[in-house]
Amino acid sequence: MKDNSYHFFEKTYLTMFSILPSLSARRIVAITPKNHSIELINERYKKIDFSKHYDVVHINFTTSTANRAYQIADEFRTNGIKVVLSGIHASALPEEAKQHADSVLIGSGELNWLDFLKDYEKNTIKPLYNNVSYSDRIKIPPTDIQLPGLVLSGAVEATRGCPYGCEFCRETNVAGGSKFYPRPIEDVVNEIESLPQKAFTFYDASLTIDPIYTKKLFKNIVGIKKRFSCNGNVDVLARDENLVRLSKEAGCVSWLVGFESFNQSTLDDISKRTNIIEDYKKAVDNIHENDMVVIGCFMFGFDTDSPDVFDKTYFMVDELGIDAADFLVLTPFPGTPLFDRLKKQNRILTFDWGKYNMKNVVFEPKNMSSNELIDGVRTLYKRYYSFNNSLKRSTHSLHYGMYPFSIILERNFMGYLNKRRLEKIK
Ligand code: SF4
Repeated sequence: MKDNSYHFFEKTYLTMFSILPSLSARRIVAITPKNHSIELINERYKKIDFSKHYDVVHINFTTSTANRAYQIADEFRTNGIKVVLSGIHASALPEEAKQHADSVLIGSGELNWLDFLKDYEKNTIKPLYNNVSYSDRIKIPPTDIQLPGLVLSGAVEATRGCPYGCEFCRETNVAGGSKFYPRPIEDVVNEIESLPQKAFTFYDASLTIDPIYTKKLFKNIVGIKKRFSCNGNVDVLARDENLVRLSKEAGCVSWLVGFESFNQSTLDDISKRTNIIEDYKKAVDNIHENDMVVIGCFMFGFDTDSPDVFDKTYFMVDELGIDAADFLVLTPFPGTPLFDRLKKQNRILTFDWGKYNMKNVVFEPKNMSSNELIDGVRTLYKRYYSFNNSLKRSTHSLHYGMYPFSIILERNFMGYLNKRRLEKIK
């Protein structure tokens, strides 16, 4: 198999400036009692000083950064410093994480972080802290803690969790992740008002899970006059014109939509209950009619995918008029039913977590070879982000106004740069 490791997204200029800053670490900082002093370090901006003394080092990480997280943890522990690990990967594989930590927090890692701190003060820390669920609504302090670097866009979480249970999805399959929690609307509004940026992104898995809540939220942020991007599902975006219109009035400029596939059997197989192919056009048209743009996410490597899936997707994306698209390689993240199934079928090719970034093939596909899968995704990417196509989509988005245009211009410009990098790989 060819070397499939390419990290072009990580090398792009705008990502370096943290266009979409991480929210998890800031949530942990936000909820920590003020009698503790905290230093928030993002390795992208600041070198870690391993000689510095901390009482506790808390590392929140995902699967693709697990190798580095474990290295950092091991080095601090060698220096006698207590290490806590949390995040989606540590929650899925706590026994693995435990080998590099004094304590592992399972689940969203906020309430059990507070439990850990109490135990730390009593010198009675435990190796594992199970997920602690919020009883109803999430009450967390504002997470508007500023990161170093040029952060052009703020980040807000209005709701958490997703009940849909798609087979490949980490968010819904992490401990507690299938329960949907809204935050009190006044908390979200206050947090948006306090953001220094004029634009922000809702980090919610989907803002269409509870349309009644979302409509109320949108009505309450109309007057704030900030622009935002958010995620949503096809079913509601196609059928609830009122919600889509309210999103525009509230300042929404782009919807990121997980279409995943144009094959209904694929969607049924992966339990993507929100997606019916016939709704795709209506969802895109509703968004466009309200002068917002659509960023589509598509995945490849499902058992129902054969080599013709790439051409088919290219034409359908174009036909729908999607303004920018992510083309991702299906990745069986630990903790998901997909991972368990493929492992049972002996189809996992590598457990090198660094390759679990949706840009490498880490499992054996069913109806094509691994090389066909990675080549197909790369070729599709290069075709979609050709200079002419990128320019055409960017120019067309001018029609929706300056904010949607700037998002689509940035997406297509980045796509074009990445396409050029991909050309150098071959
Ligand atoms: S709808 Fe989206 S967030 Fe919800 S389970 Fe499916 S992929 Fe995950």
